[in-house]
Amino acid sequence: MNESSPATAAPLARLIDELYKLPGIGPKSAQRLAYYLLRMPAAEAQSLASAIVEVKQRVTFCSVCQNVTEVDPCRICTDSERDRTIVCVVEEPLDIMAIERTRSYRGLHHVLHGAISPIDGIGPEDLKIAELLHRLRSGEVQEIILATNPNLEGEATAMYLTRLLRPLGVRVTRLARGLPVGGDLEYADDVTLARALEGRQEMQG
Ligand code: ZN
Repeated sequence: MNESSPATAAPLARLIDELYKLPGIGPKSAQRLAYYLLRMPAAEAQSLASAIVEVKQRVTFCSVCQNVTEVDPCRICTDSERDRTIVCVVEEPLDIMAIERTRSYRGLHHVLHGAISPIDGIGPEDLKIAELLHRLRSGEVQEIILATNPNLEGEATAMYLTRLLRPLGVRVTRLARGLPVGGDLEYADDVTLARALEGRQEMQG
């Protein structure tokens, strides 16, 4: 968007362009952030830059559960203390952190990396569903908890997965009502989320 105008130094224009590519950042925000970074102490800016480089070099996705990890398979997937008969399906890695914070869940996880949303052009084939089906092949998994967000996209995804999974002979449950409707799982408080897990119900339909 920024042609190197004489009023903006080229490196600054480049930074604004890069920030503008981020989700939720408009042209004004990109400019504001760029000037903020420019005024930041050099050591802090360096720390931010190296955090970005390091995350790209060292963090990858678990080939089993699709969560972010430094080792593949991740530490949850290889933890022998975990109940391997139950898999909790979430939209994003942050949702796993929310569920782990409750300390009331000892099963495994699976990250879809999104939810079905026709408006945004996101269909089932864009989610990590094939990877989930692959995990069911061994017959070890007996229950799938659908912990997608309690909003339109999350519910559509839960319905889709129920129709897909139930014929495979696996028990399909959904988090109990009581989570703030329209909200994101990651913002639910620990007690509410623990209760929703505890009170999970058989999917209808
Ligand atoms: Zn994993």
